[in-house]
Amino acid sequence: MPDLCRTGVDLSACNTLALPARATSYARIVEAAQLATPEFAAQRRFILGGGSNLVLTGDFEGLVLHMAIPGRRLLSEDADAWYIEAGAGENWHDFVQWTLAQGWPGLENLSLIPGTVGAAPIQNIGAYGLEVGERFHSLTAWDFEKRAFLTVDRNRCRFAYRDSLFKQEGWHLSGRLAITQVVFRLPKAWVANLRYADVAQELATRKIAVPTPREVADAIVAIRRRKLPDPAETPNAGSFFHNPVVDATRAATLAANYPGLPCYPQPDGRVKLAAGWLIEQAGWKGKRLGPVGMYEKQALVLVNHGGATGADVRRTMAAVQAAVREKFAVDLTPEPIFI
Ligand code: NAP
Repeated sequence: MPDLCRTGVDLSACNTLALPARATSYARIVEAAQLATPEFAAQRRFILGGGSNLVLTGDFEGLVLHMAIPGRRLLSEDADAWYIEAGAGENWHDFVQWTLAQGWPGLENLSLIPGTVGAAPIQNIGAYGLEVGERFHSLTAWDFEKRAFLTVDRNRCRFAYRDSLFKQEGWHLSGRLAITQVVFRLPKAWVANLRYADVAQELATRKIAVPTPREVADAIVAIRRRKLPDPAETPNAGSFFHNPVVDATRAATLAANYPGLPCYPQPDGRVKLAAGWLIEQAGWKGKRLGPVGMYEKQALVLVNHGGATGADVRRTMAAVQAAVREKFAVDLTPEPIFI
């Protein structure tokens, strides 16, 4: 075993739900070249980023590679865009704030999303009408199977709603690929994206008619701080369920029965429903089952009120899914990955 590894490492501080679990072995990766360590290839692996989209259901029998590669720089620019590279271990929010401070806008709607730069493309993080795939250029990853670094550009990533090639192919779960660097393309022609009512309202309250990128970021940070629990105080994994997408007929039937139902028509003709609203209507906002509950200010966020295990999370998740299914006949799919 290389010196890089430690054994029997407690992972509770490495996941934002603060669930207890140990890894048989653990290595903190600060340089891409460390991934080529021959002993790593033979083991069952899990690639860990910020641990903010993760449910640890028990001890991990294998090797946890904690991606902590730092670095951020302007790679190049042309007449239309800046190309910015960041190490997979960079904290996402700090990176977004840094791009704004440099005068390179375009990621402001994704302010305060927990996690790391390397994890962002895997689930195509999104918020307030922007998905990271829209600002993504390419990434570099170590492929444990081919024992080589590869570059994946945007048109190969199959970005979709909280989804990408990396999830679809199961490469992340199987530990096949470890993303080391990501390059973003930030267009120089910037237009504020104020599509979501919360953002427009917050700016109106601040009497800002024509916002700068910094003002959009500040508004989003303020909204998120008001609505979402800080994992350092109340352990959570952000939005716990995907917003379900149903066909238009089904949405019309539900809307007729539940007049307040938020419905967002999608380009493919289907309709996105708000999972948080369904959970709230099913009686789960602020409700607990043992140490796990749905947050009192935002029903989509599952929180650990203290001392919860992965089994407690599964129990509450199943109870919420059952309540929503019973009331609306809609299935909720969890957003975090379970290991
Ligand atoms: P919200 O503003 O209360 O809205 C509830 C849901 O309705 C959201 O999930 C959102 O879908 C949808 N929605 C609202 N306005 C919309 C519009 N103009 N067009 C299309 N869909 C609309 O949501 P929230 O829970 O406070 O979250 C705010 C934003 O942060 C959302 O975009 C949410 O997805 C995002 N967020 C993302 C993560 C993550 O990436 N893991 C974690 C926490 C929150 P969408 O979720 O599809 O946007």
